[in-house]
Amino acid sequence: MTAAYRIAVIAGDGIGTEVIPPAQQALDLVAARCGFTLHYDRFDWSCRRYRETGAMMPTDGLDRIAGHDAILLGAVGWPGVPDHVSLWGLLIPIRRRFRQYVNLRPIRVLDGLPGPLREPGEVDFVVVRENVEGEYSEIGGRLNRGFPDEMAVQEAVFTRPGVTRIADYAFDLAATRRGHLTSATKSNGIVHTMPFWDEVVAERAARHPEVTWCSEHIDALAAKLVLHPSSYDVLVGSNLFGDILSDLAAAIAGSIGIAPAANINPEREFPSMFEPVHGSAPDIAGRGVANPLGALWSAAMMLDHLGEPAAARALMTGIERALADGAVRTPDLGGTATTRELTEAVLAAVPAHP
Ligand code: ATP
Ligand code: MG
Repeated sequence: MTAAYRIAVIAGDGIGTEVIPPAQQALDLVAARCGFTLHYDRFDWSCRRYRETGAMMPTDGLDRIAGHDAILLGAVGWPGVPDHVSLWGLLIPIRRRFRQYVNLRPIRVLDGLPGPLREPGEVDFVVVRENVEGEYSEIGGRLNRGFPDEMAVQEAVFTRPGVTRIADYAFDLAATRRGHLTSATKSNGIVHTMPFWDEVVAERAARHPEVTWCSEHIDALAAKLVLHPSSYDVLVGSNLFGDILSDLAAAIAGSIGIAPAANINPEREFPSMFEPVHGSAPDIAGRGVANPLGALWSAAMMLDHLGEPAAARALMTGIERALADGAVRTPDLGGTATTRELTEAVLAAVPAHP
C-alpha cells in the first residue's frame, strides 16, 4: 500500500498565494517519483478573510486542521491589517495549540548564490528557536498612558520544561550533524531568565556528551555569525533571540526569498507547520515574480518530517541544480525570470529516479 498524507494548505496573502501552488506542484512531482501521494485541503485563512469576516480563521479552525499530517503555509499579513491580528489571530494560536515549540531555520549558502559574505568555506548551520514561550508573552501592561511618568512592563516567561525540551531538541539535532551547539544568552544584562536558560542548557549538555557546546552573548554572536558563519553548526536561542538570529541568518544566505522555516511538534501529537521565512511582500505581490524557492525548500523540510527523506533530497537537488545553473533567476536574485519559470527550472532539475 502506498503512503498517503493529508496536508492542510494555508496560502494566506500576497505572494503566499503565488508561491504555494509551485510548492504543491513540486511536492506532487517528487511524491509521484518516490511512490506516495499527498492530499491537500485548502483553507482561505488570511487578512483578506479578516477584512471580509472580522476573523483570520473560523472559531473551529484549529480543530479542522488538528488531524492533518502537516500544515503548509504561504504568508499572512497585509497593509492596513495590524500585525498583531495576523500573528495572534492565526500564527501564534497554531504554534501554541499544536505545541510547535521548535522553530527550525536551516541556512546554507548554495552554489550560484552570491551572499554578502567574504569568508570562503561552506556555510551550513541551523537556527533552533524556542517558539512558544520566553519574551513573547502577554504578561505585562501599560501604566499612566499619556502622562509624563508613563511606563510599560513586559514579562518574559521561561519554564524548566520549556527550556529543557528545546535544549534537548537542539543537542539531538547537533548530534546528527557536525556535533556542535552554540547557545545564545545575555546573562550579563538579563539577570534572571538568561542565567536560568544557561543553567538548564548546561544540565542538558551533560546528557549529550557527544556534542561539544558553548554559550555566547547574543550581541557578540550576531557579529561572529556575520564574520565567521561557516564555524557554526546548530544555534539555539530563546523566542526573541532565535527570531533575530533567524532573520540575520536568512540574510547571510543571500535572499530572504529562498529561506525556509519549520514549526515542529517533535512529539508528533499535532501537525507541524512549514512556511517560507518571507512575508506577503505587498510591494511585489500580483506580478508573478516572487521567488518560490523559500516555499519549495520548506516543502522539502515537510517531506523530511513526514518520513520521506528520498523525496526531500530529490526536491533539494532540483533547487540546488537550478540555482547553480544560474540561467533562471527571479529579480531578487538579480535576474528577470518569473515565479513560474524558476519553478519549471527546479522541476526540470529534479532527478528522474530519486
Ligand atoms: P512580514 O512582516 O510578513 O515578515 P515584511 O514586510 O517584513 O513582512 P517581506 O514580506 O518578507 O517582509 O518582504 C521584505 C522584502 O523582501 C520586500 O521588499 C519583498 O518584496 C522581498 N521579498 C520577500 N519575499 C520575497 C520573495 N519570495 N521573492 C522576492 N522578493 C521577496
Ligand atoms: Mg518580517
